[in-house]
Amino acid sequence: MNTSSELIEVSERRSAHNYHPLPVVIRSAEGAWVTDVEGRRYLDCLAGYSSLNFGHGNPRIIAAAREQLDRLTLTSRAFFHDQFAAFCSGLGDLTGKDMILPMNTGAEAVETAIKVARKWGYEVKGVPEGQATIIVAEGNFHGRTTTIVSFSTDPDARGGFGPYTPGFRVVKYGSADAIREAIDETTVAVLIEPIQGEAGVLVPPDGYLREVREICTERRVLFVADEIQSGLGRTGRTFACDHEGVVPDMYVMGKALGGGVVPVSAVAADEDVLGVIKPGQHGSTFGGNPLACAVGIAVLDLLSTGEYQARAARLGKLLHDRLRGLVGEGVVEVRGRGLWAGIDIDPALGTGRAFCEALLRRGVLAKDTHGSTVRLAPPIVVSEDDLMWGLDRFTETLREL
Ligand code: PLP
Repeated sequence: MNTSSELIEVSERRSAHNYHPLPVVIRSAEGAWVTDVEGRRYLDCLAGYSSLNFGHGNPRIIAAAREQLDRLTLTSRAFFHDQFAAFCSGLGDLTGKDMILPMNTGAEAVETAIKVARKWGYEVKGVPEGQATIIVAEGNFHGRTTTIVSFSTDPDARGGFGPYTPGFRVVKYGSADAIREAIDETTVAVLIEPIQGEAGVLVPPDGYLREVREICTERRVLFVADEIQSGLGRTGRTFACDHEGVVPDMYVMGKALGGGVVPVSAVAADEDVLGVIKPGQHGSTFGGNPLACAVGIAVLDLLSTGEYQARAARLGKLLHDRLRGLVGEGVVEVRGRGLWAGIDIDPALGTGRAFCEALLRRGVLAKDTHGSTVRLAPPIVVSEDDLMWGLDRFTETLREL
């Protein structure tokens, strides 16, 4: 068997360098733990950017996938299949929405939301053809397609990929007034992350989401919540919007919807919105396939009891209590909600990358973002003892640097 360094060398040589992975080669995983090719174990505190909320190899998700693999994996949407109705009704019930449009990746679901909002703008709101605008926030991360990077404010994500798609207005994140001022008669939607994940787990001020909801209702603009990373239990509620009792017009979901097994994404909205899409106007060969739906149904079953949401809330409190205690001791600021934290490390101690490399040597997987910020988002199935063990390693690493 090849060693980690041999596998890393070939991977670096034979793949595009669009990522900068930490030097670990994972071979297997279970629950909150992964094992590398040399047999070393690590506590996974990234959880596939929240795609693994229910843990690696969750037995119920794997059983559903196995059963489906043996029976039927793909039909395309040219036909119905026997998992589709249950998936769409289950996700519709979870979101309280009439209809679902399933896709695969998060970016595809965001693209779907943009297309739906524009079409709704022209056909329902009466915006003149070709003039629809969508308001987005500074620091956003909604994916990597050419349209989505067009409204990114991250020079790495956007630079060099023009010409850019027009029709987006960027406003300050967390300011309802900025949205109010940016809306005009061409505005069809406000697209935001209820908590900005890639920006460093930025939680907007209390009341922001509620105000966005009110403004959107008043001005007849769709409120589109990108819950791809924040949704499905991570923050201690099913959706991050739930913390403010807010229901957007469109939910955009992905990541954990695929149970860490297959890419599954979707938008959910009522019929007056999603009904604007007619046959031939949008789709995906793999979107809503039987395997994806079977896995998605298993995920919805797990979420239906509220057990994971409650667990993320309980463990999240422990996580944040411990992290707050480190402020002033190498930590500058801690943000987040539930089992999800963005931690600004004192830049004098080194970069976020150097911190994550040091954490890796101590057996914890985490990922930096934007300079000196480190994110922690372990699978919700992590045990309290393991979480505390990981935080002990985190504290040691702070002292070591
Ligand atoms: N939206 C948000 C909030 C995300 O965090 C991500 C991925 O990190 C995406 C969209 C894009 O999802 P994907 O990488 O599956 O295209």
